[in-house]
Amino acid sequence: MANYTMGIDIGSTTSKCVILSDGNEIVSASIILGGTGTSGQKTAVNEALANASLSIDAITYTVSTGYGRKSLAFANEDISELSCHTKGVHFLYPDVRTVIDIGGQDAKVIRIGKTGKMTNFVMNDKCAAGTGRFLDVMANILALNITDLESYAAQSKAPVSISNTCTVFAESEVISQLAANAKLSDVIAGICNSVAGRVSSLAKRIGIEEQVFFSGGVALNNGVRLALEKELNTKVLTSPLSQMMGALGAALYAYEKTDKI
Ligand code: ADP
Repeated sequence: MANYTMGIDIGSTTSKCVILSDGNEIVSASIILGGTGTSGQKTAVNEALANASLSIDAITYTVSTGYGRKSLAFANEDISELSCHTKGVHFLYPDVRTVIDIGGQDAKVIRIGKTGKMTNFVMNDKCAAGTGRFLDVMANILALNITDLESYAAQSKAPVSISNTCTVFAESEVISQLAANAKLSDVIAGICNSVAGRVSSLAKRIGIEEQVFFSGGVALNNGVRLALEKELNTKVLTSPLSQMMGALGAALYAYEKTDKI
């Protein structure tokens, strides 16, 4: 009988859940809008269990991670986001040495050694600029879905420059650009460039080593990924599972714990 372990990443914006079989196969994964303090975490767990036709009793060990990791009563243990992201990325992409993670309210850059250990990190969790929150605010004032931004950015030939780093001032700047008849696609490309610029400065503080992997929900925006490639002058990899790296790492840690049970 398989050993099923669960990892749950309770973020600021979304809840992610991964169920692993014998520590090497993802049998189920879910992402629910609604992070810490919402019913999202419960829904993510229930959805992941239902996808795999499992009951909670089939799970041998559960590790929670993310901003709300202390809030999941039934988890056996909680482990930091930095450790879980490192673990998840190294499992799927062992040649990655730099992880750029941009989530709903923070951005982090993690350096990983050959054996999969985190060797250094730098983080912005003080300011919405350079995070998913910046993009969410901008999508909101443009009356667009967050998923629409990348296709607009791809059409741009002359991105506008967003000079304000503060989200509130940048919001006014975007409105004045549109009032001055700037193209929507150029404004959106400027918004993507702004996030990439902020995070690239963060990354340059600890240095970039290839391969570079982009994780977190913002990695689903190809406009930001391409802007990061330009800023850092390097290839930036991503995957459809980019938002699941923390939950995957947590499920891997959970599996390691079952060896000791
Ligand atoms: P957290 O762990 O803090 O909850 P996530 O890593 O889940 O954050 O990322 C959430 C952010 O990802 C949102 O704020 C949003 O800006 C962005 N995002 C989520 N889904 C998409 C998508 N399909 N396309 C583009 N951006 C997305």
